[in-house]
Amino acid sequence: MKPAPFVYHAPKTLEQAVAVLAEVAPEDGRVLAGGQSLVPTMAFRLARPAHLVDINQVAGLDRLAVENDALAIGACVRHAAFHRPVAAGPLGDLLAFVVRYIAHYPIRTRGTFCGSLAHADPASEWCLVAATLGGEIVARSARGTRRIAAADFFQGLMATALEDDELLEAARLPVPTADTRWGFYEFSRRAGDYALAMALATFRLEQGVMVAPRMGLGGVEVSPRRIPEAEAVLTGKPPEIGIFRRAAEAAADAVDPLEDIQASAEYRRDLVRAVARRALERAAA
Ligand SMILES: Cc1cc2nc3c(=O)[nH]c(=O)nc-3n(C[C@H](O)[C@H](O)[C@H](O)COP(=O)(O)OP(=O)(O)OC[C@H]3O[C@@H](n4cnc5c(N)ncnc54)[C@H](O)[C@@H]3O)c2cc1C
Repeated sequence: MKPAPFVYHAPKTLEQAVAVLAEVAPEDGRVLAGGQSLVPTMAFRLARPAHLVDINQVAGLDRLAVENDALAIGACVRHAAFHRPVAAGPLGDLLAFVVRYIAHYPIRTRGTFCGSLAHADPASEWCLVAATLGGEIVARSARGTRRIAAADFFQGLMATALEDDELLEAARLPVPTADTRWGFYEFSRRAGDYALAMALATFRLEQGVMVAPRMGLGGVEVSPRRIPEAEAVLTGKPPEIGIFRRAAEAAADAVDPLEDIQASAEYRRDLVRAVARRALERAAA
C-alpha cells in the first residue's frame, strides 16, 4: 500500500519548524525524523497525518555534545552516531553497547535517538536508557521551551507528555561518574527484533558495597521504568550473586507485564528474573 495523501513541509530553521507545527498540529500534523517507524505505519495506513513536518534540513538538530554534565542529543542524531563512544567514560561505552540491539544497520543509519523517545515503544532501548539514567527531554514549540524528566515523559503505551505542537528538540543524558559500573541484557527472539524484556543496571562501589544503584526494565510494561523495589535490595549490599537473585526476584514481583502475541505476562515476568540478574552480573564483572 501507499500512504494516504499528505502535505509535505521542509523547514530550514527551528523557528520555522515550530511555527509550521503550530499551524498544522490541529489537522494531525506530524514530525518526520528518520521515518523508520512513521513511514511504515503510513504505508499500512495505520497513520494518516494530513501534514508531515520533515525536520531533517533544520540547522543544528544534529548536535551531539557533552555540555553542563549532560550529553545533549539533538533531534536529528541517528542511532548510528553511537556505534562508537560519543563521550568519555561509562556513558559512551554503554550507548555503544546498547545501540547494536536496535533493529539492523540500515535502520540505524536513518532512525534517530529522539524519534525513538517520541515514538515511545515499550521495547525501545533508548527509552530504557533515558528512563534508567534519569534523562531529560527538551520540548520546543512556538509557545517556548520546557524540560521534562524522562520518568514523567513516558505516559503509557506509545504515549508521551509531548503536546501536538511540540517538537522534541533534544534529549539530555546525565554523564555518570567515571567509576559507575553498568550492565545491559536483552532477550529477543532474533537479532534485531524488539526486546521481549531487557534490563539496564548501574551502580558504584564504595568500600565493597553498591551505592546509588539503578535498575531499569524495558519491553515488559507499557513504558520502561526504574524498579525501586529492586534498587532497595541492592543498596548498601556487596555485588554478589545471591543479592542479584533477590533483586531480580523483587523486580519480577514488582512489574505488571504486558501480554501480547509475542509472550504471556507470566513468561515476561520470568524473563525479568533472568535479564535483571544478568544485567547486574555484567555490571559487576
Ligand atoms: C524492522 C525494524 C526494526 C526495529 N527494531 C527496533 C528495535 O529493536 N529497537 C528500537 O528501539 N527501535 C526499533 N525500530 C524503530 C527505529 O528505531 C526507529 O528509528 C525509531 O523508533 C523512530 O525513530 P525515527 O527517527 O525513525 O522516527 P520517525 O519514524 O520519523 O517518527 C516516529 C514517531 O515519532 C515522532 N517524532 C519523531 N521525531 C520527533 C521529534 N523530534 N519531535 C516530535 N515528534 C517526533 C513522529 O512524528 C512519529 O510519530 C525498528 C524499526 C524497524 C523498521
